[in-house]
Amino acid sequence: MSRTKSHEIFARAKHLMPGGVNSPARAFGAVGGEPIVFERGEGAYLYDVDGNRYIDYIGSWGPMILGHLHPVVKEALHAAVDQGTSFGAPTERENTLAELIIDIVPSVERVRLVNSGTEATMSAIRLARGFTGRSKIVKFAGNYHGHVDSLLVAAGSAAATLGVPNSPGVTPGTAQDTIVLPYNDTQALTQLFETHKEEIAGVIFEPVVGNMGCVPPAKGFLETMRELCTHYGAVMIMDEVMSGFRVAMGGAQQLFGITPDLTTMGKIVGGGLPIGAYGGRADIMGHILPAGEVFQAGTLSGNPLATAAGIATLKTLKETNPYPELDAKTKRLEEGLLAAASSAGIPTVSGRVGSMLTIFFHNEPVLNWDIAAQCDTAAYGRFFWQLIERGVYFPCSQYEALFVSAAHTDEDITATISAAKEAFKAL
Ligand code: PMP
Repeated sequence: MSRTKSHEIFARAKHLMPGGVNSPARAFGAVGGEPIVFERGEGAYLYDVDGNRYIDYIGSWGPMILGHLHPVVKEALHAAVDQGTSFGAPTERENTLAELIIDIVPSVERVRLVNSGTEATMSAIRLARGFTGRSKIVKFAGNYHGHVDSLLVAAGSAAATLGVPNSPGVTPGTAQDTIVLPYNDTQALTQLFETHKEEIAGVIFEPVVGNMGCVPPAKGFLETMRELCTHYGAVMIMDEVMSGFRVAMGGAQQLFGITPDLTTMGKIVGGGLPIGAYGGRADIMGHILPAGEVFQAGTLSGNPLATAAGIATLKTLKETNPYPELDAKTKRLEEGLLAAASSAGIPTVSGRVGSMLTIFFHNEPVLNWDIAAQCDTAAYGRFFWQLIERGVYFPCSQYEALFVSAAHTDEDITATISAAKEAFKAL
């Protein structure tokens, strides 16, 4: 597969942007080699600038659950553009998107739109602190919540991949109010609450982790967290930026029947445009300016294009209910990949919830970051490049989940399993 043009464009990019990219995960640092420069996406496929086609399992890191260039989303965007792209003032579309979110996400009574997942989590922890008058936030190793200073402690995703759990520039003062615990460790969480009691403003967590690869919650972990937060008056913040509208229409909270106090959203809620949202209990959300006193604002928040794409995406998901089919397709992919690895003599285990999946190059179930860190990331990198050469675009790190979209056909899944068989053998 020739990628001459890709190489030329990226060579220029390196002189223009740090590392040649606008976000680190896409630089392919974890798998070695150069990123591919893309020109367009359609359905389940991405096309690079050299005209090569790839079956896309990243979907822009989650948002493209309907596939690229979905006709309904495209039409909604065209219509919105014709009316002007930003007013910094109320629009009816904001109501429509807010109504959809409140209707779909079980725990959300009021919602505020922002511009990214990072803004959503940053705002939610400020609100938790403002609401409780307490300082400490609990997070879990290997969970990523965006590049919020105080949450860039033992973070997953690119932070894990690049081995900078504590970024330079995050001061000890900022990090000192963040307490990090191992994921799925119910006992550690219980003990922490018994020790710190009323100091804890909130617990932020991924209900299905995507950012150390896909790691589901252990039985009882979220249930105990709910009980502890209620008992000690801490705000339970479910970060559904990745799992929201993904593992079920109403997110992980619907799938597992857990009611958080606040929910953070992003990715799918903007249908591929920059958006984020946070919402939850009306009494807590009532503390945000101008209803209350906790400051949070944004020039482009509730942007006409982003809300148009979000509305089109959520409405289409509601109307088509792709979730049972997504689950079945991803299960078939999971089983096919595990069998292909096994017949090539390569030990792998999987983590999957609905259409989020990771094949770990490891021989025991991955429950937390300490176990995830033992994966054979070099082998994953070689596997990744073998797939690229066969026109399959998997996450460029062992520590990122892959996503199946409604646009992937059974033939795409079959082709991917065939490519993986060859790829595992070539290792
Ligand atoms: N939370 C989670 C769970 C995420 O996966 C991400 C991004 N991958 C974020 C927050 C941050 O979102 P954004 O990149 O839109 O700032």
